[in-house]
Amino acid sequence: MKSGTMERFKKIRQERIANEYTHVCGNCHSKITPLKKNSGSFVIEIIVWVAALLLAKPTLGLSILIAFGYSVYRFTSAKTVCPVCGSENVLPRQSPAAQAILKEEDAK
Ligand SMILES: [Zn+2]
Repeated sequence: MKSGTMERFKKIRQERIANEYTHVCGNCHSKITPLKKNSGSFVIEIIVWVAALLLAKPTLGLSILIAFGYSVYRFTSAKTVCPVCGSENVLPRQSPAAQAILKEEDAK
């Protein structure tokens, strides 16, 4: 393949990424698709579940309830973060605050 074709493909892909952003970072003002970041640790979750299953009988299933609670906590407390700077201050693209940032960035 000619290098010119490759360059064009690269450019098209970059443009597509730029157009597909769903959020704007309130911290670094990047146009982004935020990352989901769970609270707590996946390793701890595994340990909690293994312990819960081992202790299920002596605790009459209460340990499983606790493990389940931990999983729910991790799932529900997931944060959206900026992939560029790691800030949690991400704004939906359509929100007035995001629009204001975009306007400001365009004016530069
Ligand atoms: Zn950012």
